[in-house]
Amino acid sequence: MKLRRHFAEPTRRLFLLRTALPVIGLTLLIAMITAGLLLWSTIQTDRVAAARQRSLVGLIISKLESAVAHDQESVTVWDDAVNALRSGDAKWLDTNLGSWMHTYFGHDEVYILDANNAPVYAFSDGSIVDPGSYRSIQATTAPLVQTLRARLKRGDTEGVTGQVLTIGASDMAVIAGHPAVVSIKPVVSDSGHIAQIPGQEFLHVAVRYLDGSLLTSLRQDYLLDDARFSWADKVASGEASYPVVDRSGPIGFFVWRPYRPGAFVLFQLVPVLGALFGLVLAGVIVALIAFRRRTLKLIETEDRIYHLAHNDLLTALPNRGQFNERLADALARLPSTDEQLAILYLDLDRFKQVNDSFGHPAGDELLREFADRLRRLTTEADTVARLGGDEFIIIKRSLAGEDEVRTLCERLIESARRPFEVAGVQVFVGVSVGVAVAPKDGLDAVELVRKADVALYHAKAGGRSSYAFFGHEMDLTLAMRKGLEQDLRKALEMPGQIQVHYQPLYAADTNRMTGVEALARWSDLERGWVAPDLFIPLSEETGLIEPLGELVLRQACLDAVVWPIETLAVNVSALQLNNPSFAMRVTSILLETHMDPRRLEIEVTESALSERRTECRNNIEALRSIGVRFALDDFGTGFSSLGRLQTLEVDRIKIDRSFVQGFGRSNGDEAIVQAIINLAHATGLSTTAEGVETESQCDYLRKLGCDQLQGFLLSRPLPKGELQDLLGVVSERASA
Ligand code: C2E
Ligand code: CA
Ligand code: CA
Repeated sequence: MKLRRHFAEPTRRLFLLRTALPVIGLTLLIAMITAGLLLWSTIQTDRVAAARQRSLVGLIISKLESAVAHDQESVTVWDDAVNALRSGDAKWLDTNLGSWMHTYFGHDEVYILDANNAPVYAFSDGSIVDPGSYRSIQATTAPLVQTLRARLKRGDTEGVTGQVLTIGASDMAVIAGHPAVVSIKPVVSDSGHIAQIPGQEFLHVAVRYLDGSLLTSLRQDYLLDDARFSWADKVASGEASYPVVDRSGPIGFFVWRPYRPGAFVLFQLVPVLGALFGLVLAGVIVALIAFRRRTLKLIETEDRIYHLAHNDLLTALPNRGQFNERLADALARLPSTDEQLAILYLDLDRFKQVNDSFGHPAGDELLREFADRLRRLTTEADTVARLGGDEFIIIKRSLAGEDEVRTLCERLIESARRPFEVAGVQVFVGVSVGVAVAPKDGLDAVELVRKADVALYHAKAGGRSSYAFFGHEMDLTLAMRKGLEQDLRKALEMPGQIQVHYQPLYAADTNRMTGVEALARWSDLERGWVAPDLFIPLSEETGLIEPLGELVLRQACLDAVVWPIETLAVNVSALQLNNPSFAMRVTSILLETHMDPRRLEIEVTESALSERRTECRNNIEALRSIGVRFALDDFGTGFSSLGRLQTLEVDRIKIDRSFVQGFGRSNGDEAIVQAIINLAHATGLSTTAEGVETESQCDYLRKLGCDQLQGFLLSRPLPKGELQDLLGVVSERASA
């Protein structure tokens, strides 16, 4: 969980910054560029279209005069017209030269002038009018008429082509308040058979308003939207204009709304493009979401793989690999600070027995529970790792001092001593701790771990459930072990070097010494007294325990056979019990020393009893059959189970001294001892409490109903002589 948060949080932010925003930004940018291009092409298209329309308007205007003139020629170059004018056939003239022009070509006014420029016919506003009305335009037409007559007289034919049959004069002008085209053509013979005096021809004057039917034709034939005429060049937005010019300058403007094909297409496209862009954006967002999900999933998988690679599957604690990484990391930072760092190497005592007796699932359960206890005793800053098997290691950083480590060690040991509930039974194990401190013991990771391991070995040798700090003398002991072993071999052959001391056992109720426990003592010539915690494990490892055990048993039997006590307790190691000839050898020593088998109580640890080997069982059965009793030693330290007490073939249990010494420390030891005593009694076993050092422990154990007491308060282990003295004293005290 922690790891995942560690990885995923910045990734979420990074995703937004590095992926989502740029992709969406890019999409918007592309959309904007597309829209820009589209707008630009629209404007370009419209500009080109407007320019073309403008040229078209220019062309129309420039052709207006010649168009009117061309219309005129359909009637002015015609023999009949010349004749009709000469004869003054008013009806014919009106039909063919007046109304016709109006109906067919849309000419607004028509006048016919005679050779003296006097009007002979006038048509205006859809009907024949008084020729005198010609006066109103005479000012405009006079210069044109004059020029035309002069040219006709000269026989000037410039501008006459296949299409233009006669010369004419025309101009833009304002006629009756209307902008207009005025065009004048001579009425001539088309066959050439009618003789006419040049300059004396009848003249046909046609007027076409620019703001009348012309506009309709502009709108319909040339598709000029909203075409209109304006006197001033004032156009509304979106309109275009083109000047209408007469000889003296502009008289007004054609105004229209230019056709905008680009804008038209754009307006058609906008909804389609908008929808398309919406779709693309939605697609991009959906893709982003899918991508983000996949990325997160990938990160999760990575986290998981990381976790699997760096953590122990069983306890979920960091594994050796991660421990090494973190240690290297912590050590690298150490020199720059004043801080100290401790490595605590932990090893469960007799964990193997739990596995052997209850199976691996139970062992796993115990390890998980122990891992939880370790977690509770450490902080976030510490590293608790499982190295494998029942070995754990703790990195304790930012140490205030060694006292802090001592406190932690004591707490760890205490927590391991509390019973574990596995496979439905309560099991007791213990833990030993070896400590190395950096920088005092070095800054090299491998070296520090090795030193913590060496310290652990010493802690174990110094008695279970204890801890030791690494000391340089410890490094020597491995080399010294060989020497010690050789010396022990020699000592076993030399009488007097291995002695037996006796620690009295007292009945709790009467305070009477009821027995003694034989304890091996080794006094080396050079070393002095060597602690049993050192040479007993050594002799077990080297196989010397068998001769040693026999030596102690024989000596103890020899000494105690005459003492006025009921019980001689002798410690026997599991290794001895596994020897098929053990029962036989004990029997022969008993015979040899004349010791009553019923006075002998063999103390074995639970590990010996949990052995499934038949040799061990056979030995115990054989010895019990001749009256030898068995006691379960150090109950509660190794693997012990209250539930299994009934099935063990023992007569007594000895409650380990660590429980007695835990009284009054509010960690539940009283409750545990009470439970052990109750259960033992219910099963018909007697109980002995070891390590009684204070009066209050003594009182309390009596109150709990413990049968037998042993400890420094009552008596230390004594040499044979001193014990014999004591036996005399005790008998005195008892009588008092
Ligand atoms: P153990 O069987 O638990 O023996 C009792 C130990 O408790 C003795 O340590 C004794 O001196 C100590 N003790 C007794 N009363 C008190 C007390 O009030 N306070 C404290 N703190 N300690 C107390 P010792 O003699 O050092 O023996 C250590 C262990 O060595 C024994 O533990 C036993 O497991 C083993 N051992 C001793 N002699 C033999 C032997 O002949 N054969 C075998 N196989 N093991 C032996
Ligand atoms: Ca013992
Ligand atoms: Ca003991």
